[in-house]
Amino acid sequence: MQDWLSHRVRATPNRTALVRASTGETLDFANLDAMVDDLAGRLAALGVKRGDHLGMVMETRLAAVCTVHAAERLGAVLVPLGDGLTAVELADQLDAADVTTLVCSEETEATACEAFAGPVCSVDDPAHDTVASLAETAPERVVPAEWNLGDTRLLLFTSGTTGEPKAVRLTEGNLLWSAVSSAFRLGLHGDDRWLVCLSLHHMGGLSPVLRMPLYGTTVVLEESFDPGRTADNVGSYDVTCVSLVPTMLKRMLDLRGTLADSLRVVLLGGAPAPEDLLRRCRDFSVPVYPTYGMTETASQVATATPREAFDELGTVGRPLFWTSVTVRDGDRPVPQGEPGELVVDGPTVSPGYYGNPDATEAAFGPHGLRTGDVGYLDDEDRLFVLGRIDDQIITGGENVHPREITDVLRSHPMIGDAVVVGVPDDEWGELVGALVVPADDDLTVGDIEAYCRERLAGFKLPRVVSFVEELPRTASGTVEREAARTRLIEGMAGSGTER
Ligand code: ATP
Ligand code: MG
Repeated sequence: MQDWLSHRVRATPNRTALVRASTGETLDFANLDAMVDDLAGRLAALGVKRGDHLGMVMETRLAAVCTVHAAERLGAVLVPLGDGLTAVELADQLDAADVTTLVCSEETEATACEAFAGPVCSVDDPAHDTVASLAETAPERVVPAEWNLGDTRLLLFTSGTTGEPKAVRLTEGNLLWSAVSSAFRLGLHGDDRWLVCLSLHHMGGLSPVLRMPLYGTTVVLEESFDPGRTADNVGSYDVTCVSLVPTMLKRMLDLRGTLADSLRVVLLGGAPAPEDLLRRCRDFSVPVYPTYGMTETASQVATATPREAFDELGTVGRPLFWTSVTVRDGDRPVPQGEPGELVVDGPTVSPGYYGNPDATEAAFGPHGLRTGDVGYLDDEDRLFVLGRIDDQIITGGENVHPREITDVLRSHPMIGDAVVVGVPDDEWGELVGALVVPADDDLTVGDIEAYCRERLAGFKLPRVVSFVEELPRTASGTVEREAARTRLIEGMAGSGTER
């Protein structure tokens, strides 16, 4: 089969493909196809051909959307790279993915040149004379490449939460099954409009862009996220679907209370959705679909409908059609209801990491992908994700999942936020530690202890508690667990800690 846009433009050329939220500019599939064809022709003239690894380092913008589809038209493997990476990080990823040509923009050109010795081209006016200008390259005529289901279409880097980011191979088949099974769970309406405000170098932002020609629906491109403006754009552009991570949704609701009622799907993933956020969605009619997924599975593994999410707070629902989730302790399945490692199998699971047989062998086993996440399936096969195996706390031989403790702490009215990590202890191996952001100056460690005692078994109680004004977070908003642990250990050495 050819690239999905080639098929789409023959079917519905006049349907709206894309709207730029910043300007209101609208492109139908015929317009988008012409732009993609032109860009593919220019890339071909610069030597990009079938099977090449085409790196893309660019902010979220129309030219990036065109690059994604131009790679597919050329039969090239797309390698989306973070536009916020340093030159050293970028160089490592370009090397790991064997990128042959790199497409950049004005904004990323300097980093691209520093990181890459191979051919670089820009969608803007280049500042370096080693960088080719796509605008000034005469396009060649391109015959759309044919794709087979097993062909690698993407090399996509994981977020690097547990170590160096790994380049995940995603095939035509992975992307197709993922698009189809996602539509089975979320529904597919002819007039859907997906707001894209996540970056295009992770599955969350890339998926709707990849799928738009397959579904024949519209992408509303939000070039940068701003909680107030993005929330308002949902209403202004009659957006029906949006993918968000929990911190983004929280910030939007903090500012606007709810979201426009044009919305029928808020796909919420990437990190656990705090229960208080889910309650707010329930109380303010936000149609939230909590989801669990990862790069290695081409995005969603399991997704809850709003009804499931509100009935059973904390669940990510059932696995998607074709996807299976088993819960294991090593190779052995554990009884239903008990926690263990989540192992995912099905046609969306990647064939492995590019150029990394050791990591591939470690994660991809006979039962499927060992996710490194801990969770359980309840008696109705609804999935609950407790966190990463490495984050589990083992205290006196008992396993404690930080998520459970964090949820209890966050439900305390005088607690603004909290993170729970293990801190080393000679006697118990580890102790449960909690770094707490008080929402009220009167909060004491004694209050927390009493509150937790009513809700948690003794071995799960936080034994080391420190108060902070803000949790340590990475640039992308994830809590830095190691930094939290260091703060707690420092606190133990100081005076302000109770044990
Ligand atoms: P790396 O694999 O390099 O350490 P990463 O796992 O963070 O990085 P991603 O593929 O972007 O890279 O993220 C997938 C991970 O995000 C999952 O394995 C899981 O740990 C976490 N995650 C995603 N959705 C949820 C969710 N709903 N609840 C809890 N954790 C989630
Ligand atoms: Mg991972």
